[in-house]
Amino acid sequence: MQAFDLAGKVAIVTGGNGGIGLGMARGLAAAGARVVVAGRNAQKNAAAAKEIGGIALPVDVLQESECKKLVQETVTQLGRLDILVNNAGINIRKQPQEYSLEEWHRVLDTNLTSAFACSRAAYPEMKKAGGGKIINIGSMMSIFGASFAAPYASSKGGIVQMTRAIACAWAQDNIQVNAVLPGWIDTDLTRRAREDVAGLHERVLGRTPAGRWGEPDDFGGIAVFLASTASDFLTGTAIPVDGGYSVQG
Ligand code: NDP
Repeated sequence: MQAFDLAGKVAIVTGGNGGIGLGMARGLAAAGARVVVAGRNAQKNAAAAKEIGGIALPVDVLQESECKKLVQETVTQLGRLDILVNNAGINIRKQPQEYSLEEWHRVLDTNLTSAFACSRAAYPEMKKAGGGKIINIGSMMSIFGASFAAPYASSKGGIVQMTRAIACAWAQDNIQVNAVLPGWIDTDLTRRAREDVAGLHERVLGRTPAGRWGEPDDFGGIAVFLASTASDFLTGTAIPVDGGYSVQG
């Protein structure tokens, strides 16, 4: 279907070198987009870019100057920017009373402030291109709480509200801004959680109607949909991709 065709489009995926970001990058590339894989680990960046036929650019999204440089370098090498996936994220699992404020800020800055910084860096280029698509990655913790995730849940709740606010602001520029809320997905991030949190694996399986953990490639379809003209009248929303986790009573 033509509405899902991304030929001629240029996408940046932060954290696109593994996990959910790589699943999205694969989907965007398969739909015809030229994809920039952007993370801190140069080796992982290069391997992912090679796999999908994209290009690798280094970025630490904690530095606003690097977010700007990433956008500039993308435009220098590929000529334009149409799609931004704000996917880079971390978690630090502790009880609320155990965090240092530095840890709180590190999680908020990586998961939320970086998405704001990258979106702002992308805005002038998307305007120049006549419009754009921003896809922010939330979480089930955009909706629910967990004792071990106060800063993470705060950042992911913030992602949903930031998505709504920027969607309102930039709709007039033909830029659609949406969030994806993954359920429990098998990646490096959750492999550590499965080791740290007793019983997590069984609880996730028991509560997920689909009866399995998600895989990175479960995110190719939603990425293509939200990056393509098929979703032009969709903005400010937050779509769970969770095998039914969030609707299980
Ligand atoms: P991974 O740990 O596999 O991926 C995280 C990615 O973020 C890596 O590619 C990493 O690249 C990048 N990253 C982290 N910090 C920075 C930084 N400062 N600058 C640039 N890149 C950075 O985890 P997931 O794929 O699971 O996570 C991807 C997103 O999905 C995150 O936002 C996460 O919160 C979210 N999510 C994941 C869920 C899950 O079940 N897995 C559930 C809900 C949400 P590098 O190390 O090279 O910098």
